[in-house]
Amino acid sequence: MPAPRPTPLVFPDGDDWIVFAPVSRLALRTNAAAADRFRSLVETVPGAGPDAAAPGFAPTQVTISPTNACTQRCVYCYGTPAHANAARLDPAFCHAALEVVAGYAAAQDAPLRAIFHGVGEPTAAWSTFVECVELVDDVARRRAVARRLDLCTGGQVSAARAAWIASRFDSVQVSIDGPADVQNRQRPRADGADALAAPLALARAVLAAGRRVCVKGTVTAATVGRLDEIVEFVATAVGPVRLDLGMMFGPPWVDPAAAAPPDWREFVAAFARAIDRGRALGVDVQHPCVSLGTLVAEPAARVASHVCLAPPDVVTAFYDVPREGSATPELGTYGRFDRARGVIDFDHAKRERLEQDQAGQACLECACRAACLGQGGVKGRIPEEIAGLGPVCQARLGVLKELLRRAVPRRVSPVEVAV
Ligand code: SF4
Ligand code: SF4
Repeated sequence: MPAPRPTPLVFPDGDDWIVFAPVSRLALRTNAAAADRFRSLVETVPGAGPDAAAPGFAPTQVTISPTNACTQRCVYCYGTPAHANAARLDPAFCHAALEVVAGYAAAQDAPLRAIFHGVGEPTAAWSTFVECVELVDDVARRRAVARRLDLCTGGQVSAARAAWIASRFDSVQVSIDGPADVQNRQRPRADGADALAAPLALARAVLAAGRRVCVKGTVTAATVGRLDEIVEFVATAVGPVRLDLGMMFGPPWVDPAAAAPPDWREFVAAFARAIDRGRALGVDVQHPCVSLGTLVAEPAARVASHVCLAPPDVVTAFYDVPREGSATPELGTYGRFDRARGVIDFDHAKRERLEQDQAGQACLECACRAACLGQGGVKGRIPEEIAGLGPVCQARLGVLKELLRRAVPRRVSPVEVAV
C-alpha cells in the first residue's frame, strides 16, 4: 500500500487564497476558483515525498545532554520526572561518539555540529559540560573539521561562566519567558533568587561577542495575551535577536493551577501579531518547531539520523523522553557505550525502525509535515503530544499559515501590470 500523502493546504488571506503543496514544497497565491482546484491535487514528486527512503547512518551532528539535573523549577517543565536521575554523561562516551560523528563530518567535508541540550540544564553539571565542550574542540582539531557549537540553556549562570560560554559557542538559545513577573512565576530558580538577571546577562554577553542568540519563550494561558509586550521586552532588554515563541503543552505531572496551555486559536492570533510587532522592532519572531527554514531544507537533511547522547552512556533517537529520563532511557535507545572496550555498540536495525516510524499516521497526512520538526516525537518532545492532531498540532498548522501569508508574494494585479 502506498504511504499516505498529505493533501495541499488551501486557505484564504484577505481577498486572496494561498495554496501550499507540501510534498512539492510549492506555495502560491491565487484566487478562490483556482485555489479550489488544488484541493484534490495528488502530488507525485519522485524522491521528495514523505515516503522517500531514509539515508544511511552518516551523522555530522550530535546532541549532548550532560545531565538530567536542573537549577530551575519551571511550572510547566516537561522534564520533571527526569530530574530524579542523578546520572551524568560519561566523558569517555562523549569522546567516542564525537570520534564517530567527526569521522562522518570529515568524509562529507561538513562541519561537526554539537548541540548541548537537556532534558535538564546542560550547564548544571559545569565540569562535565566544560569537559565535553573541550572534547568537541579537540576532536574537531585533530580530525581537521570545522565545528559548530550550539547551546540550549535556561541561562542561570554567573557572569564568569556567561563570558566563557560567549567565547566558545557559535549560538545560544536561552529561555526567557518575558519580563520579571512572567519569568519569576513561570521559570523560578530552585534557590528562589531572581530568575531573570542571569539569562538576560548571558543573552547580552553572547550578542556582544558577535554570536547568534535565540531567546526562547514558552507561552501559557497566562501570557498569551502579552506577546506584543514580550516582543517589546526582548527588543529593549536584549536587542535584535531571534525570539522563538512556542505553546506550552501539558504533561500529566504539571499542576494545571500553576500553568495551563493557551487555547491554540488564541495562540496563533497572538503569534501573528507578534511576528508583525517583531518586524517593526528588529526581533525575528519564529516558532521552535515550524519554520520556513525547515521547509526549504533538503529532505535528506531533515531526516538524517538523530544522535543524542543521554546520561550516562546511551545513544538515543529521542532527546527528551522525561519518564524514561528518570531511569536509563530505553524507548529510543539504539546504542550503548562499552567502557571496557571504549567503543559504542550500535543497534542499526533498531535505529532504522525508529527512523522509519518517526512519523505517525497523523504526520504522514499532515500538510505541515515538510515544515515541522516535531514529527512523531523523534527529534523532540513526547510522542503522545502529537496524537490525533491535537491542539499542539493545530497551533503548528496555524503558525505555518501565518508564515506562508507573509512569505508568499502578493499577486500583481492587471492594473499594476498596465502601469
Ligand atoms: S530549565 Fe528546562 S529542564 Fe529546567 S525546569 Fe525549566 S523546563 Fe525543566
Ligand atoms: S507533529 Fe503535528 S503538526 Fe507536525 S507534522 Fe505531525 S501532525 Fe503535523
